[in-house]
Amino acid sequence: MRLFLEVYPKTPKVLSCHYANCLHNFLCMLESVHMKFKISIALITVAGVLALLFALSTLKKNGGATEVAASFYPIAFLAERVAGDSVTVFSVTPFDTEPHDYELTPSMALRLSNAALFIHTGAHLEPWANTVITTRNTQELPSLTLLTEENALLHGEDTETDTRGDDGSEFDPHFWLSPLRAIAAADQIAFTLAHVYPEDEAVFTANAHALTTTLKKLDAAYRTELASCTSRILVTDHDAFGYLAADYGLTVHAIRGISPDEEPSIATLAAITELVRTNNIKTIFTEELVSPTIAQTIARETGAHVALLSTIEGLTEDDIKNGNDYISKLRGNLTTLKKSLACN
Ligand SMILES: [Zn+2]
Repeated sequence: MRLFLEVYPKTPKVLSCHYANCLHNFLCMLESVHMKFKISIALITVAGVLALLFALSTLKKNGGATEVAASFYPIAFLAERVAGDSVTVFSVTPFDTEPHDYELTPSMALRLSNAALFIHTGAHLEPWANTVITTRNTQELPSLTLLTEENALLHGEDTETDTRGDDGSEFDPHFWLSPLRAIAAADQIAFTLAHVYPEDEAVFTANAHALTTTLKKLDAAYRTELASCTSRILVTDHDAFGYLAADYGLTVHAIRGISPDEEPSIATLAAITELVRTNNIKTIFTEELVSPTIAQTIARETGAHVALLSTIEGLTEDDIKNGNDYISKLRGNLTTLKKSLACN
């Protein structure tokens, strides 16, 4: 038996081949106009087919073209939960890096360009994405854009801030801080993964159901437990909580703009300080991956205290050490909000 197999990455179609429906998949693979596997078979026997399927299965488990890329931590978390063991998911932005500051490295650009699918917000948080999506060698990188005109908030919507991304994007990227938006994202991810890996559709559907069941409980807890807060105003560092505020009846006043590396003007600092005094606000919220100095200064001047409200844009060393993840940090944020806003 002679069996020649040339494998070219970037091929989602046949990489999820399973033994149960192996012959069907194999025939589909041969017929698929999208396939990038080039197979030259001098003699194919039943044993040869099984050997080929074993090779594909091994390739799938080892990553390479079978990988799905997510732009940063919370998206990677959602994608991993939906994908389960069927597909390898990696985060382009390291978990301990603030994604607003992330710059794509050459090695990561190469890995990303070889992914079967790229999941991102489509807002200005991933300014490096478009180049990779559109300049891949043979065809555009398949991608899922989670935010669109239909489901995205504009920067500054429902807040006092009106800043825009450097690339002109008007979308607020921080949807994952609202459990309600995360439910919709998980469903989008399951639908798209099933399109890329149709053999695993039932797995993705079941995994998405388990994930959204957890998120729906969190959504209900946010809705119920934030319904009767004495204060409904959040004073935060950067403007990351617009979706949370919009979905659960709160108002956000951010010290910085949509990105934590924006420096607030004197006028903004004065306005926030006045707002805190006027509304007798007790808490200024800080976040993990950004210096709390400005929030601490406003707190000192107004007699407020500071509390950590996670933007869940990554995981700290302590998070990893303590086994924290996206879900536990959403729960932690609810606990912090209830205490800080004096909710009954
Ligand atoms: Zn942010």
